[in-house]
Amino acid sequence: MTAIDPNLRTTKTTCPYCGVGCGVLATPDGSGGAAIAGDPEHPANFGRLCSKGSALGETLGLGERLLHPMLRDDAGGMRQVSWDAALDHTADQFRAIIKQHGPDSVAFYLSGQLLTEDYYVANKLMKGFIGSANVDTNSRLCMASSVAGHKRAFGADTVPGCYEDLDEADLLVLVGSNAAWCHPVLYQRMLANKQKRGARIVIIDPRRTDTVADDDLFLGLKPGTDTALFSGLLAYLADNQALDRAYIDAHTSGFDEALARAKNIAGSVAATALATGLAESDVAAFFHLFRKMPRVVTLYSQGVNQSAQGTDKVNAILNCHLATGRIGKVGMGPFSLTGQPNAMGGREVGGLANQLAAHMGFTPPEIDRVRRFWKAPDIATHEGLKAVQMFEAIARGEIKALWVIGTNPAVSLPDADAARAAMRKLELFVVSENVASNDTMNAGAHVVLPAHAWGEKSGTVTNSERRMSRQRSFLKPAGEAKPDWWILSEVAKRLGFGAGFAYTSAADIFREHASLSAFENNGSRDFDIGGLAKVSDDGFDTMAPVLWPIREGTTQPQPRFFADGGFYAKDRRARFIAVEMPALRSDISVARPLRLNTGRVRDQWHTMTRTGLSPRLGQHLPEPFVEIHPYDAAQAGVIDGGHAKLATDYGSCILKVVVSERQQRGMLFAPIHWNDETASFARVGALVAPFVDPFSGQPENKATPVSITPHAFAQRGFVLSRKPLALPEQALWTRVAVTSGVGYLISDNADLATWRTWLQPLLGDDVAEFEDESRGVFRAASFVDERIETCLFIGPVADGLDWDAVRALFAEGALSDEARRMLLSGKSADGHASAGPIVCACFGVGRTTICDAIAAGAGTAAEIGAKLRAGTNCGSCIPELKRLIAGAETTVPDEQKRLAVAN
Ligand code: SF4
Repeated sequence: MTAIDPNLRTTKTTCPYCGVGCGVLATPDGSGGAAIAGDPEHPANFGRLCSKGSALGETLGLGERLLHPMLRDDAGGMRQVSWDAALDHTADQFRAIIKQHGPDSVAFYLSGQLLTEDYYVANKLMKGFIGSANVDTNSRLCMASSVAGHKRAFGADTVPGCYEDLDEADLLVLVGSNAAWCHPVLYQRMLANKQKRGARIVIIDPRRTDTVADDDLFLGLKPGTDTALFSGLLAYLADNQALDRAYIDAHTSGFDEALARAKNIAGSVAATALATGLAESDVAAFFHLFRKMPRVVTLYSQGVNQSAQGTDKVNAILNCHLATGRIGKVGMGPFSLTGQPNAMGGREVGGLANQLAAHMGFTPPEIDRVRRFWKAPDIATHEGLKAVQMFEAIARGEIKALWVIGTNPAVSLPDADAARAAMRKLELFVVSENVASNDTMNAGAHVVLPAHAWGEKSGTVTNSERRMSRQRSFLKPAGEAKPDWWILSEVAKRLGFGAGFAYTSAADIFREHASLSAFENNGSRDFDIGGLAKVSDDGFDTMAPVLWPIREGTTQPQPRFFADGGFYAKDRRARFIAVEMPALRSDISVARPLRLNTGRVRDQWHTMTRTGLSPRLGQHLPEPFVEIHPYDAAQAGVIDGGHAKLATDYGSCILKVVVSERQQRGMLFAPIHWNDETASFARVGALVAPFVDPFSGQPENKATPVSITPHAFAQRGFVLSRKPLALPEQALWTRVAVTSGVGYLISDNADLATWRTWLQPLLGDDVAEFEDESRGVFRAASFVDERIETCLFIGPVADGLDWDAVRALFAEGALSDEARRMLLSGKSADGHASAGPIVCACFGVGRTTICDAIAAGAGTAAEIGAKLRAGTNCGSCIPELKRLIAGAETTVPDEQKRLAVAN
């Protein structure tokens, strides 16, 4: 976090990462960067930012940006072209393919990182004018099951509550959500409620994450059994006089069938315990809390959504809230935590293949309504292909042209190697991006188009609570980068649809989007922002964060839905859903005896194209890893800090091993972030089975059968360089952002001569070397103007190397003679111990520093905070501080700890 200079012009904008949607104050520094602070007036965060948001200023450089339109030439290389040439080529190729193969032979794959206005134009072009609904988005991988669950129960994709409910609830139930890491600012809000009002927190997750505090009730259920738990809860509520019969009778239908099915799945506390693998006492304690405390908010995220039965899991939760009438009232309700910054905005415009626009679907009256509003010549009349189906259709050759906008499906889709191979078959493959290289572009893109990045973009995003906020530009666009809505509109014009795409600003598009939301609505649809349809350009510029709906003529905001019914099915009733018996799609076997759960780490976002640029964020968990229970580790013969090969029926990876009691027996956990740009052999998406939920199409990212075997390396070390390098092919490497350059953590089995040969061309005239052949140690550094230009440290795995100390010397300018002498010892030049791996990313406080403070008497997280500031900003590291105080394990593998300790 950087202090804001009051003399510089500050822009209010919105964080581009998670669905919390925090307000950000950005003050440009005049040389391409900006000071960043939380916006104290934004109702989502009231000034707080998490480690990722705080580090936004470190991610604004041009080093990795795509600056110009590029076309693939006949020889297979990419060449810079004018915008006109790139747009003409794109439009000509789309036109030719549509003419020959029809509109369903083309597709757009969009992103929850796009602004609502970008999404709107993409959706309108494909569904209204090209005539296909093959528009899907990475939000399919994020919250599609919540959308499907909402629509089944409420008749619309409505989030009934708002963030204030988290302040007012007496019981907060988190299901499949590591909110401490993935929605940190909201999690701090829940903790504040716990502290001030004594709210209880229940965490339901197969994995004991940092969201679990000692005084919370943790239910570490078996994977895939959430539906059984909430079926058991529904049965318990019915058997213990906890139903709201008046609400059920007045506002719902289908209760008896849903209850009968729930009783069949888990009709008692004992049956629930058996089905979920939980202790009966824990199940009973949860059920008792839920029954006793009327103000309950149940929050759910990817652990619920990313499942082949995700929609049923959502509906099992919604059933319990509907049955108790705990919905739409202060401090009560189900709450879907959206992963992405604008997944909600995408849903508003119809960015998913099974939506049309403005919360309308593909019924004949809705198709006709949207057609008339858009004056659309050729509107799609049926749903398109959802993400996984879309890439399967590409693999079969049925989709021949694809435009990927602002996302990296070659990394994030399940069975990601197959998805990447499919893209190579496309006749036309267009990518709009703001980075110069990623796994998707490198899968054979024919056209790459430079798009505005955060800081340049201007438009709106909607967060998890339906709050629309402005993302505002505060930097000049990089190179020739353009807004996504402009790029799409230019292609639309070239396809002959100019009249429908004559936008001159994001405000133009927003007004049209708002008008459509109100068009022939009359209260029949939840999404209505007609009150903003006539907003002026100035009004759009200054628009304050606001919750929808904002109906024309209304003056009072409507923070909640459904307290008094008023659902969006034709009969205005909610539906209870009789959910299916929980079952995972694939069985474990002798060959694949464990299940792979995937997720995120605290300080990285998606495929690291932005967070991967921040040296601070790279220090908490710098390497791709797999977490495994000690029992399974012993069975597999893998050790903490060693490496292991993971293999599924779809792909394989080599990852660092973290042995942890926090991991459930029988399950592995691996983060999704690393890819071919940031690590070798660490594409975790390639391991994930492409099984999808039948209603939402969302893939099962949490339970793929997997095997794990040891993968030994004889040497380890690191490289630091002022510019990116191509490492030897055989080496296992992870790229880590460091101050003024790039670092690589390496493991290898090649002999030292291989590394010597690799390094030779990189060395200049001023070189220092150290070699101990008997121990297999080689260290070398080259200098330019007394500053390290490149250095390599490699030696036996058992050797300790102070990566932190050398990194600190690398970040310095010209080195003193003494510092140069000390460098090759791999120790800090000033003789001080290094700070160790970063625990508090906000203030850059390392593990060793924290342990020293604990040894000196700091006995609580607050005392550490008072002494070192650690944990006093976003609070995400407080659970880790507490574990360090307790002398317990951390997520940092032993070898990584050793890397930080001078030998
Ligand atoms: S919680 Fe963090 S990542 Fe999410 S919006 Fe806020 S600052 Fe950004």
